[in-house]
Amino acid sequence: MGSREVTEQLDWNGKKVTVAGLGVSGIPAARVLHGLGALVTVVNDGDDERSRAQAADLEAEGITVRLGDGATLPSGTELIVTTPGWRPDKPLFAAAAEAGVEVWGDVELAWRLRGPGAAPWLAVTGTNGKTTTVRMLASILEAAGLRTAAVGNIGVSLLDAVCDETYRDLDVLAVELSSYQLHWAPSVRVHSAAVLNLAPDHLDWHGSMEAYAADKGRIYEGNQVACVYNVADKVTEDLVREADVEEGCRAIGFTLGTPGPSQLGVVEGILVDRAFVENRQKNAQELAEVADVQPPAPHNIANALAAAALARAFGVDAKAVRDGLKAFRPDPHRIELVEEVQGVTYVDDSKATNTHAAEASLAAYDPIVWIAGGLAKGAAFDELVQRSAKRLRGAVLIGADRALIREALARHAPEVPVVDLDRTDTGAMSEAVREAARLARPGDTVLLAPACASMDMFTNYNKRGEAFADAVRALAATRDA
Ligand code: ADP
Repeated sequence: MGSREVTEQLDWNGKKVTVAGLGVSGIPAARVLHGLGALVTVVNDGDDERSRAQAADLEAEGITVRLGDGATLPSGTELIVTTPGWRPDKPLFAAAAEAGVEVWGDVELAWRLRGPGAAPWLAVTGTNGKTTTVRMLASILEAAGLRTAAVGNIGVSLLDAVCDETYRDLDVLAVELSSYQLHWAPSVRVHSAAVLNLAPDHLDWHGSMEAYAADKGRIYEGNQVACVYNVADKVTEDLVREADVEEGCRAIGFTLGTPGPSQLGVVEGILVDRAFVENRQKNAQELAEVADVQPPAPHNIANALAAAALARAFGVDAKAVRDGLKAFRPDPHRIELVEEVQGVTYVDDSKATNTHAAEASLAAYDPIVWIAGGLAKGAAFDELVQRSAKRLRGAVLIGADRALIREALARHAPEVPVVDLDRTDTGAMSEAVREAARLARPGDTVLLAPACASMDMFTNYNKRGEAFADAVRALAATRDA
């Protein structure tokens, strides 16, 4: 199992630290640093009522807060700890570079603060599937009898995981890292890591696809035991090749096909390991059945293989992989079965907020009545529609940018019937579901996989998914009556 290293302890006393951004990671970071004796100034762009209230609380504790100016570097700053969401091209960071001041994100801070003998990290990133894979991994580690938690960009922050008593005695952490967090985490070196896939996303933040890939690739730097990559996504393998890892660290591929040596894959409905076995040229170890994974959609089997690879790299046995995968239940709104109504299955994948995710869920069903649309975030829909067209019974389009999807359908799938809903009020989802029901035949799947963000019509993707599920239940009630 993973080795524990002794970490260098920094002397924070009197160190002038600027925390960039109030909010979910800024406020706890400021408090922790203040508690360690650092002289903390929080800078924040906004100066609204909420930030004033937050500032008042922090100032009462002795932390300086400067509202309405997140651009000027406070004089004497020795270190910046930034909210990961802050874009690298902000003027504050240019000023920091000029003054030779280092910038850390919340994850880097947690890494530096973890005490001697801290639990090793098994880390996951990728454009899609991170949360699912990290939860599968935690489930497998638990099945192996290990004390663990799913942390990072996923509920519990890494700072809490490192500083809070509750997490003191863990054996290993299952860590989700976003590309933003990785950008600001220059010295993090984990036990083993996986990049699940890479598709264009958040390019406005990173500046380019190359910069986005490079930030994701940071997760492999200094890996000790395994760099897990996706055989079907060559960029992930290239990132492993480019990484500077510890002596003896192995590249481990996962594939939905038959695995080669040093890979995990699928043979006749069985998840098998040809990486962490004696004599991998000849042998393979059965881990679980495809049917053990919920839902058994292809992309989710890929997630399960990545989770299994990280667990195996940590020394977990095959039985625990199977037990952990069997015990795993997906989070809400991720390919969630809502109900079957008159022979039609209704599935909520509201979390499919980009085209790459939507393509994965569209690949899992056939035929489909597709409910899509929302905020496109600059995406193009041609490839998604081209690749999915033959599975579509029909499409119901909602939201601000639905015309983009309608045009792609007209270009690549003119025979698919499309209902274009020109309303964004709260009743829109009910109408979308009724329209979908009208298009569907018994045996079809009505799939909410919007390929877009939800904020034009809903508070977030959870609310969108709930609206869909409510509408499906209302439909079921009328049909059963
Ligand atoms: P993330 O944490 O990366 O946003 P989630 O596990 O929450 O990922 O899944 C988000 C959505 O991405 C899912 O609802 C599904 O539509 C899609 N998805 C999940 N895993 C994959 C994958 N391996 N490849 C492509 N899409 C995926």
